[in-house]
Amino acid sequence: MQPIHIIGGGLAGSEAAWQIAGRGIPVTMHEMRPARSTAAHKTDGLAELVCSNSFRSDDRATSAIGLLHEEMRRLGSLIMHAADTNQVPAGGALAVDRDGFSAAVTTALAGHPLIELRREEIAGLPPSDWDSVIVATGPLTSPALADAIRAATGEDALAFFDAIAPIVHRDTIDLDVAWFQSRYDKAGPGGDGADYINCPLTRAQYDAFVDALLAGEKTSFHEWEATPYFDGCLPIEVMAERGRETLRHGPMKPVGLTNPHKPQDKPYAVVQLRQDNRLGSLFNMVGFQTKLKHGEQTRIFRTIPGLERAEFARLGGLHRNTFLNSPKLLDPTLRLTVAQRLRFAGQITGCEGYVESAAIGLLAGRFAAAERLGEEIALPPATSAHGALLAHITGGHVETIDAGPRSFQPMNVNFGLFPPLARSPVRAPDGARLRGPAKSLAKKQALTARALDDLARWIGGEHVAAAE
Ligand SMILES: Cc1cc2nc3c(=O)[nH]c(=O)nc-3n(C[C@H](O)[C@H](O)[C@H](O)COP(=O)(O)OP(=O)(O)OC[C@H]3O[C@@H](n4cnc5c(N)ncnc54)[C@H](O)[C@@H]3O)c2cc1C
Repeated sequence: MQPIHIIGGGLAGSEAAWQIAGRGIPVTMHEMRPARSTAAHKTDGLAELVCSNSFRSDDRATSAIGLLHEEMRRLGSLIMHAADTNQVPAGGALAVDRDGFSAAVTTALAGHPLIELRREEIAGLPPSDWDSVIVATGPLTSPALADAIRAATGEDALAFFDAIAPIVHRDTIDLDVAWFQSRYDKAGPGGDGADYINCPLTRAQYDAFVDALLAGEKTSFHEWEATPYFDGCLPIEVMAERGRETLRHGPMKPVGLTNPHKPQDKPYAVVQLRQDNRLGSLFNMVGFQTKLKHGEQTRIFRTIPGLERAEFARLGGLHRNTFLNSPKLLDPTLRLTVAQRLRFAGQITGCEGYVESAAIGLLAGRFAAAERLGEEIALPPATSAHGALLAHITGGHVETIDAGPRSFQPMNVNFGLFPPLARSPVRAPDGARLRGPAKSLAKKQALTARALDDLARWIGGEHVAAAE
């Protein structure tokens, strides 16, 4: 049988190799280290953790990342097995001894009779006689391969930085203060004239907000993240530094909008939030990419009227990161639509995080194996953490209505990506009405229980509504 080629032996490539070899299919894995390294890797080990040693919360009942851990365990993940056997104490988080973890993955793959590990860079599109390839070269894909991918997919299709504006859970925005309206009520393609949530600021509130941005603590760029600002995507605090009115003429301009709660008051400035996922559960703060520290973002953005109790699905940031415009370029099984022998996995697809990258590697491996064996590919249930993440990458994201920087940005798994429950829990087992944090906890427990039930049926071969 022809091997499946995997380019990149990081978190995603390693998991993909394990899944494919586990189905009896030969794998050739191409990893450029140690001959050539990246600006963040320090060893020649497979699945090297380049920064923190944490896989985050391991609570499968109330956390989306904990649920993803559990799903991966049930799907026979090598990455989770290596993490579990190299765990170090870290409270409710799963943290690992990074060297032991990477050594366990390297030993398992290098010793597998069906896996050949070649230490070489693939410095362009793979040879045409490789009929099934998984590209898992990560956020620091080598420049020669990145250039070839960009040439094959188009100029805008591969980004080299993520410029992330904070994303808010819609049900935490106060709609007694904010309101739905598009500027000048424009419908635009796919819109209905009321696509944005608008938060109004008075002059005093705007002045205080600008002062807070200027004083707020910022993170600095790493040396290897040179050429920071691009695409007209300036961080808001840099815009604020250019003049006190700059934001009011930019992302916070108040024109074309009327506050239905106070029609006679003209807001001095407006923060707009735009729907971020097809489910309508997440909204991003338009034009609010920022290098403010995370704690500062939460503090300062909660001073915006309507966002006082906002919960953030992710906070803003600006990093070096190579990733595809996947919702446009990849099919539901992660293949490049214009060159279907190429499948992508890991952070280059637009997920973020060690575990998420490995999970997408797991799916890419299973999809490639099924294809090689001539089987029909069954997508994971939309209600599972794997399905939710896959939907974010391949289809769940809403394209921006306005011109400007594209809006698909990498994301960690979070409950905002899951389809809503048919019925949210309203009462505790003892019959008491659920409120506040208890209600939110019960909702999370219901989402994770549904996910694990549906995943079990999927593993058992039953048809379950899939991620699209
Ligand atoms: C500096 C930095 C810090 C990060 N910190 C964290 C963190 O603390 N926690 C977290 O959850 N996530 C973090 N991430 C995000 C992300 O989860 C990790 O980068 C993760 O390792 C991505 O997994 P991956 O398999 O997609 O890519 P990687 O793990 O980076 O693996 C890609 C592999 O491909 C190889 N490669 C690249 N180009 C080629 C080529 N042309 N030919 C052959 N091999 C090639 C590389 O050497 C590498 O081994 C960080 C990212 C960066 C860049």
